[in-house]
Amino acid sequence: MDTDATEPAQPRPDEDRTSEPDTADVGSAFGPVGVVGAGAMGAGIAQVAATAGHAVSLVDAAPGAAAAAVERIGAALSRLVDKGRLPADDAAAVLARVTPAESLDELPNCGLVIEAVPEDLDLKRRIFAELADSQPSTTVLATNTSSIDIDDIATDVADPERVLGLHFFNPPPVMELVEVVHGKRTAPAFVEHVTALMASWGKTPVRCSSTPGFIVNRVARPFYGEAQRIVESGVADAATVDWALREKGGFPMGPLELTDFIGQDVNLAVGTSVWEQTDRDERYAPTNFQRDLVAAGRLGRKSGAGVYTYAADGSAQDAEPDLELAGRLVGGPIATDPLARTLAMLVNEAVDLVARDEASADDVDTAMRLGVRYPKGPIEWGREIGFDLVARQLAELDEAFPGGRYRPSPALTDGSLT
Ligand code: NAD
Repeated sequence: MDTDATEPAQPRPDEDRTSEPDTADVGSAFGPVGVVGAGAMGAGIAQVAATAGHAVSLVDAAPGAAAAAVERIGAALSRLVDKGRLPADDAAAVLARVTPAESLDELPNCGLVIEAVPEDLDLKRRIFAELADSQPSTTVLATNTSSIDIDDIATDVADPERVLGLHFFNPPPVMELVEVVHGKRTAPAFVEHVTALMASWGKTPVRCSSTPGFIVNRVARPFYGEAQRIVESGVADAATVDWALREKGGFPMGPLELTDFIGQDVNLAVGTSVWEQTDRDERYAPTNFQRDLVAAGRLGRKSGAGVYTYAADGSAQDAEPDLELAGRLVGGPIATDPLARTLAMLVNEAVDLVARDEASADDVDTAMRLGVRYPKGPIEWGREIGFDLVARQLAELDEAFPGGRYRPSPALTDGSLT
């Protein structure tokens, strides 16, 4: 399954912060890093690797694109210097470590190659086959894919145990989280190795299997889906639902305003990708509410209108919450409580992922706090609410809205998570 869909993280106040590597020596000892694809992600990843002390070769198929990316990296480093966050000498040294290349053949022998070309399975498969031939057998081959199965990408690699996912978040120099994704054939030793390397780059790595959406894009689905369903059913308007999640739940943005920020088309594509990859499991079914927005060209902030309509100064026009209604809904019956209903579904999704051994509870919580800035990890939240209560809430929702979307994970009540 391939899609271009990737959800950017929520905006943060300080977009120019750079991660400080803990031990640049570990990184440089690992050897040169190759980055294939010098777009938004590839350039950012190259900057991170060079900052950690690696010689980095950046390849792009489009003539001049790698050189242009090196220029962009130079500009980003200069901004850090201007803000007093990086000494000018260090910036020059980092930039000097990044070299543009025009083809995969021009890459030196690398310890690690990270692919960041568009989200197209055939393209990625071809690149991995070529890298497997041209790089030494000890080179770890990583993909920054957001949604494609790691084993599919490794199909034409003779030794797929060295293929894994390194899912950076946008923008890579700012976002701390990296999902280290193992396919069925990835050797655990490579996963360990690369996890330690990411920590040495100043990142916070979490590990998961190549499950649809990995951790963040999987567990976050109901955050959007429940809000859309509540608005779609006429229980409350978008502003009231967003207010409840933001003000009562502590989320940095409400789900509906967040989808306007991400882009309704991008968010729908991610959701559809997870839904398709799970054989159209009802739990991930996209809503008609969102499909209609996309069909109407209401893509969010970028098109001037989405769930909300935006004025020229960027302010949302119809964003006044009904506080009296919110006061009645939050803490009321679960079917119409936007906060409790969303939390129950987030906890269920997280618990399910852990129960199926796709990721650890700690990694799921870390991923959601760092990747999408949830105020608490969903497993921790589940413990606070009580897994039994969450199971009862879901059973009630399942009765109110049959069809399987709200089926509780058995792990909520089998005592495996305490
Ligand atoms: P992009 O379109 O900005 O960049 C892709 C680059 O790859 C382009 O410069 C293109 O010229 C180059 N390219 C195309 N074919 C190539 C080839 N055969 N060899 C070398 N270079 C080639 O895309 P992006 O947003 O940087 O995304 C890249 C990958 O990262 C995708 O898999 C995407 O899903 C994933 N990702 C993106 C984000 C995001 O927010 N943009 C976040 C996480 C992961």
